[in-house]
Amino acid sequence: MVVQKLNRRWAQVKVPGCGWVRFRLSAKGKGARLPAAKTFRVSYRNGQWHAAFAVVPEPIPAPGTGGVVGIDRGVRITAALSDGRKLNCPQLTVKERAQIRKHQRRAAHAPKGSSRKAAAYAKVAGLKAREVNRRKDWCEKTSTLLARTYDVIRFEKLNIKNMTRSAKGTVEQPGRNVRQKAGLNRGTLAQGWGLLRRRTEQKAPGRVEDVPAPFTSLRCSACGWIEKKSRKSQADFVCVFCGFTCNADENASINVAAGQGGIPRPRQTAGAGGVTAASSRSSAREPQPIRVEIPLF
Ligand SMILES: [Zn+2]
Repeated sequence: MVVQKLNRRWAQVKVPGCGWVRFRLSAKGKGARLPAAKTFRVSYRNGQWHAAFAVVPEPIPAPGTGGVVGIDRGVRITAALSDGRKLNCPQLTVKERAQIRKHQRRAAHAPKGSSRKAAAYAKVAGLKAREVNRRKDWCEKTSTLLARTYDVIRFEKLNIKNMTRSAKGTVEQPGRNVRQKAGLNRGTLAQGWGLLRRRTEQKAPGRVEDVPAPFTSLRCSACGWIEKKSRKSQADFVCVFCGFTCNADENASINVAAGQGGIPRPRQTAGAGGVTAASSRSSAREPQPIRVEIPLF
């Protein structure tokens, strides 16, 4: 790709099959290192042509504090950090969603090829673009925050199970509004997660790790005990072994922060763990063998 800056306001780019195309630099484009861009895209929006350049963001220097953070990505809380922060990706408001439906309805009822139909569809597209913009903005801000505050950033390796986990809940305790949540959130947020991971890697090269975390949501971040029953509900985690109580998403993110090896399993000595869960450990005859319940997905 060849791009040249002509002056403070104007630049030109060689478009294949088209030759040099001049364009005016946007406020952001004026400061950007355009030659660093690998690709660009030309689009026609709202009666104007746009040339958008994909510039990889500059790496942000590590704070050097040795801080490690784990991130649990979920549907209910977009990103739960192991430091207790809960970051939520903004979505469309209920009102905006209603507007989308309204314009979709109008478009459907308008006669084919009419300007009313086109206008209604344009409104729908505008609202959807707003959501995309919000998500992108959030990813930029969040990735900058992560790269700036932590030396090592650990993401849970994503799979479909984890993506849908929070909305679905468990068989015993299904999540609320499962259908709406699953439909609304999964698709839009899945894109946000990917972008967040990518941007963080670009801003903190070599400082991002993926943690294969099959039981992050079921493992106690205090003692390492893995049991399905510890997950009391969508929001609460109460360890049946040591009684550790925590927000479920935060607990998972602490497990992610612990990294590859995770937290060591609890020792079998009686009394380990301090606060004893009365129900499960009242009959403390002998050290019981570690029981690990592995759920069959
Ligand atoms: Zn525990």
